[in-house]
Amino acid sequence: MQDIGHWINGKLVAGTSGRFADVFNPATGEVQARVALASQAELDAAVADAAKAQPKWAATNPQRRARVMMEMVRLLNRDMDKLAEVLSREHGKTIPDAKGDIQRGLEVVEFCIGAPHLLKGEFTDSAGPGIDMYSMRQALGVAAGITPFNFPAMIPLWKMAPALACGNAFILKPSERDPSVPLMLAALFKEAGLPDGVLQVINGDKGAVDAILDNETIAAVGFVGSTPIAEYIYAKGCANGKRVQCFGGAKNHMIIMPDADLDQAADALVGAGYGAAGERCMAISVAVPVGDETADRLIEKLIPRIEKLKVGPYTAGNDVDYGPVVTGAAKANILRLVETGVAAGAKLVIDGRNFKLQGYEEGFFVGPHLFDHVTPDMDIYTKEIFGPVLSTVRAKSYEEALKLAMDHEYGNGTAIYTRDGDTARDFAARVNVGMIGINVPIPVPLAYHTFGGWKKSSFGDLNQHGPDAFRFYTRTKTITSRWPSGIKEGASLNFKPME
Ligand code: NAD
Repeated sequence: MQDIGHWINGKLVAGTSGRFADVFNPATGEVQARVALASQAELDAAVADAAKAQPKWAATNPQRRARVMMEMVRLLNRDMDKLAEVLSREHGKTIPDAKGDIQRGLEVVEFCIGAPHLLKGEFTDSAGPGIDMYSMRQALGVAAGITPFNFPAMIPLWKMAPALACGNAFILKPSERDPSVPLMLAALFKEAGLPDGVLQVINGDKGAVDAILDNETIAAVGFVGSTPIAEYIYAKGCANGKRVQCFGGAKNHMIIMPDADLDQAADALVGAGYGAAGERCMAISVAVPVGDETADRLIEKLIPRIEKLKVGPYTAGNDVDYGPVVTGAAKANILRLVETGVAAGAKLVIDGRNFKLQGYEEGFFVGPHLFDHVTPDMDIYTKEIFGPVLSTVRAKSYEEALKLAMDHEYGNGTAIYTRDGDTARDFAARVNVGMIGINVPIPVPLAYHTFGGWKKSSFGDLNQHGPDAFRFYTRTKTITSRWPSGIKEGASLNFKPME
């Protein structure tokens, strides 16, 4: 059995806590490795070394730091196949989907090549007589990131690359369910020229997370995962005086207007609802057709498309649309929620409960489910299922559909399918959700924009990647300077406007 340790000071090291978690192959259900769970002492030692390495890295000119990013882009492309294979083996998603995961992370590294430009400060010449005023963005020191299982390449890269490009040292605590790709990314950063100690990958569970939150050297924490943990980390991190941004769960609605192209909408729903087995924070899990006629026609179009979906292991290549979910516990939770939907009276139009895959009976596969006549009081509507389950809530009008999205506690993403520009524009302006798709089912912003939800999908005031990341991982220092005669004028005791 393979033991997975940590990446500390430029090399793989074994864990010393004596605690481990199982890493499964979700397709077979077998335990394929065990990952070390770091103790507070291990975390603290790695942070202390990172703090020692950071000043030299911060003093490296931003152009040179950007060149590390540039080389990293090349290495990610070089090792794309290798990374995707390991990613799929631990996560379960298909190879093309794993490559998408890596690619969307790579694009943020690409954006970080612009660090010299993004880190430029502001300057006012002659703000007063002989006085110049300027501001600079300085690294925070040591920052940390805590990431979820569902994008083991993309989200670690969203955190590491901007933090490092800004001149910070970075501690990554990846998900213990699929820890191998983050360790490979750290090795690639070293190959790209990142000095040892500046990036540490510490595996672990709640113990390592609490050690991060209690460590006094760590200045900032970025988290992505489920909402209860996001709330916990936000509250504790802030109470401990850290800068914190936490991105949580989701329940993304797609509104289908009567004038929408229903074939397009049905295709979009199948891709966004069942891709990656529904384990995406931007998955569409609620379809809201407006009007019964739209709903009936939509369901009619969805059924054959969903029945055609091929569920299987990533090793089956292009023959598979989506793979298993990540653990047996995740599978059990999805099936439990499906039962609550049936018990509450929702109509299970496509029933994936008895799905079995020959030769993979122990794998964590979940067949596709489609519910109709879901109502807002049901658990399958209020809770994030994070599985291949699409719920249809029928709305009588556009206003009722909009209100559903507005009243839901989550506000990560949402989409509208319509041919009417007026409706689309009204929706984008009024809905209280962070990322909106207009005839686009999964509106994940590109690297040079920012990513973040509203309401219980996000805690903190800045988004991920794009210009916001450079704000999150730096702080502003503003200098007022006068040379040299002014210093002889004598003291001025009044707080006064600039002359
Ligand atoms: P999770 O909350 O279980 O775990 C996320 C991280 O928190 C992991 O590193 C884990 O080790 C750690 N953790 C788990 N339990 C903890 C505890 N009790 N105390 C402290 N730390 C703990 O999430 P997950 O299952 O890995 O990921 C799926 C969730 O992430 C979904 O809710 C999904 O919507 C969300 N997600 C959100 C975004 C976003 O940008 N909003 C992106 C991807 C995933």
